[in-house]
Amino acid sequence: MIARKKGMIWMKAKIIDGKAVAARVKNEVKNEAERLRQNGIVPGLAVVLVGDDPASAIYVEGKKKACAQCCIRSFEYVLDKSVNREVLLELVGKLNNDPKVSGILIQSPLPEQIDESEIIAAISPEKDVDAFHARNVGKIMIGKFDFLPCTPSGIMELIADSGIKVEGAGCVVVGRSNIVGKPMAMLLLHKHGTVTICHSRTKDLASLCREADILVAAAGKPKIITADMVKPGAAVIDVGIHRLAAADSNGKKICGDVDFDAVSEVAGYITPVPGGVGPMTIAMLMKNTVTAAKLQSVNH
Ligand code: NDP
Repeated sequence: MIARKKGMIWMKAKIIDGKAVAARVKNEVKNEAERLRQNGIVPGLAVVLVGDDPASAIYVEGKKKACAQCCIRSFEYVLDKSVNREVLLELVGKLNNDPKVSGILIQSPLPEQIDESEIIAAISPEKDVDAFHARNVGKIMIGKFDFLPCTPSGIMELIADSGIKVEGAGCVVVGRSNIVGKPMAMLLLHKHGTVTICHSRTKDLASLCREADILVAAAGKPKIITADMVKPGAAVIDVGIHRLAAADSNGKKICGDVDFDAVSEVAGYITPVPGGVGPMTIAMLMKNTVTAAKLQSVNH
């Protein structure tokens, strides 16, 4: 790991610009989508939003905008929060059979009367652009996958773009969710990192984090990673997104799982929130949608 040290003075961490990397990825996706269109294949993404959660509505809007930028057709389905499982399963079945739909995304969270795992299991694995279906999870585990989950694969893209070496690096992932922590650990492992996964019952989180050359914070707890938990020169990737009730002392209304100002004095690389991992998640969703369209054109 490169420590950003000049003489005896530590330099501030290099900020990893997720917006710039996402723009590059989206541009590549757009070129690929245009190429497919010339061959009569039009990639399409169906996004299903259940209920009126304002944050979910913002995410869905962002996905629609990205589809337009990437020459991907988007289809939006908004269902009332009182929807029952039968209606949702029927919609998923319809989208599975619709040749115009290459990828299906069910925006989480779903209302509590819906069993999210049942809905994910109903999505055709070849249209599962989130890579949450058990079949796709299994393929990732054995390293023979069609899609990678958007947030972890976006992080791998940021790491590669920054020239950070994973092979042999000590990697600590804080969080073990199915959508971020576990697949993140697996992707780092595939690239030959030595991976430790931490969670809410981990003893002495701070000392484990201090061992990390690459630290991925996905605990969903505002500013849980403080400067004393970071090895000098480490790459710190902040997955958390927290909307604050009021602006902080820097006028920011959003923060991550990392205490950005203090940690950027110690780390070698750091992702900002916003503008780090978030834009990459959407860019990788676009990439997966185009991959799905290509796979379906070959398989059908
Ligand atoms: P979950 O709540 O599903 O998982 C959080 C994980 O963190 C759990 O494994 C939990 O442990 C662990 N954890 C909680 N508290 C602690 C603690 N004090 N010490 C160590 N580990 C802890 O969250 P997600 O994985 O879905 O998301 C994590 C964060 O990332 C959220 O802020 C979310 O909004 C954000 N996010 C951002 C995305 C982006 O595009 N930027 C995309 C997806 C998520 P345990 O398993 O023991 O409960």
